[in-house]
Amino acid sequence: MLSMQCVRYPEGMTKEECLECASRHCAPCGAPYAYLQAVYDDYAEERQGLHVTDLTKCPRQYALSKKVDVVADPSEYRSILLGTALHEFLEGYTLEAEAEYGISVFLEKHDTTLRGTIDLWDEKQGAIVDYKTTGNIYRDTVPKEEHVWQVNLYAWMLAKKNKHVKQAYISYITVSPSRKCKVCKRPLIPNMDGRYTCLCGNTGKTAPLFYTAIAPLYNPLVVEAYIDDRIRRINQEDPEPIGWRCIWCPFSQMCDASLADGGEDV
Ligand code: SF4
Ligand code: SF4
Repeated sequence: MLSMQCVRYPEGMTKEECLECASRHCAPCGAPYAYLQAVYDDYAEERQGLHVTDLTKCPRQYALSKKVDVVADPSEYRSILLGTALHEFLEGYTLEAEAEYGISVFLEKHDTTLRGTIDLWDEKQGAIVDYKTTGNIYRDTVPKEEHVWQVNLYAWMLAKKNKHVKQAYISYITVSPSRKCKVCKRPLIPNMDGRYTCLCGNTGKTAPLFYTAIAPLYNPLVVEAYIDDRIRRINQEDPEPIGWRCIWCPFSQMCDASLADGGEDV
């Protein structure tokens, strides 16, 4: 269950109390009613079985999410909602490919069903695309390892249905405002490497706004071993501390492995 951490109810509140507070249009946290309702709905979305992204996140984080209530600040969900909204918008523009392609595979060994939703499945070209929204793109950190595993899990699942992936792409899209030219203050439009030439003639380098990475595709046996290992680690509540991940983890206060307080990325 999700509960908000806020000044009005320092001891915690129910979803109904929170929405009632927001329905009066000027809640002390400043969040509008529609935003909070969308956050609660997004969180409560029914997810049966094991999802591909459950395998790629920290195993302890996933295990804790199944048994401990999440207490969060209303503002923490902005980027998640923006990401969901952008995915829903992009769904309408797909050429001849299928957007939000749902797939499930029963894992006999683990007696559970692995489910996934592929952002774009282009059967004609044998290509899958996964969109990632982010604040900034740091070229030396993308594609992230967990995103590469995610598309490999999709490719493995599609192969189980006799659909063969030849190429997997991960498309990063920033949702933060563009940087401005230091000379003329126009918004900068950098290319994928971050290089730009402004209309005023100023040139330079900054973080790109978009970046599409080609993910390596692994041998199916390697992917199967990954699935087995992740499920084993979830069952053991094994921590996988990574600086940025622990910072955003709702369980960082109760996790002895947390790197949320000044830890280094691993
Ligand atoms: S609307 Fe904001 S201030 Fe009101 S209870 Fe919910 S989180 Fe707290
Ligand atoms: S704080 Fe870090 S290691 Fe601990 S559960 Fe969260 S993501 Fe995992």
